[in-house]
Amino acid sequence: MSIDISSIKKEDCISDQFPLDRIRSRQSFQVVIKRSVLNRMKIHGRSSMNAEVCGVLVGKLFWDSSPFLYIDACIEGKYSDYRVASVTFTSKTWDYIHEELSGKYPDSKIVGWYHTHPGFGIFLSGMDMFINENFFNFPWQTAYVYDPRAEQAGFFIWQDSKMKLDTAEVIEDEPENENTTIMTLPLSDDKKQVNNISVKLPIWKNECLIENTSIALFCIFLIAVIGWVYMKCICKNEECKSIPAPSTVLVSKTIIRIDSSIQDERKLNDRTIKLLKEKVSK
Ligand SMILES: [Zn+2]
Repeated sequence: MSIDISSIKKEDCISDQFPLDRIRSRQSFQVVIKRSVLNRMKIHGRSSMNAEVCGVLVGKLFWDSSPFLYIDACIEGKYSDYRVASVTFTSKTWDYIHEELSGKYPDSKIVGWYHTHPGFGIFLSGMDMFINENFFNFPWQTAYVYDPRAEQAGFFIWQDSKMKLDTAEVIEDEPENENTTIMTLPLSDDKKQVNNISVKLPIWKNECLIENTSIALFCIFLIAVIGWVYMKCICKNEECKSIPAPSTVLVSKTIIRIDSSIQDERKLNDRTIKLLKEKVSK
């Protein structure tokens, strides 16, 4: 049987009115979250801009002609194994979460989880899906992903055993954090507007493109420098080969001098012999 929001039963929900005055945007399953919870997750996410952080969402499941999930708290996933692109709930994390839940929110339950993707956008990885399937597999449980670098966020809900991006209604119980542009947005449709908040496309792809271009330019520069140095060395060697050694020059000059002196001596000798011959003949 597939995990799907359509399988949520009325008897599993608390009957209560939808908490917002405005008309419910739809009559199917709806996630509702307090701004204070979004702010808290934001602070947690921003505390680690290079490695993921996680936690659980706390709330209740209600029914008002259809189910809605009301999230009014969150618990940080302390003692989790935080890495650059993954996060793992350890047994110590679960102990801490259950302790906090029973102590601070005894009437609520874990209605989902949140984690951050610092700089790599809103989606659920294979590891994230493993966590959903094994720890948050009730049809009403949700996953919230927040990118503190791109300032984007998204809720995922169960649809046909897959987690699909969805919107959420926000209860403004406190002001939005400074410089906050948290969005609960469907990335599948970049033209949609949720609660008059414009949907932004992820920027991480552009950042990657810029990074790749920089690396390519650096490589070209490096190859050029290596080529120049190599050529310089080769030329130097060839110049060295073409210039005769100074000692050879000296030696050859000496030989020339010796040769010329010998010739002079011979000339002298020849003259002497000639003179002697002339004297003898006389
Ligand atoms: Zn993830």
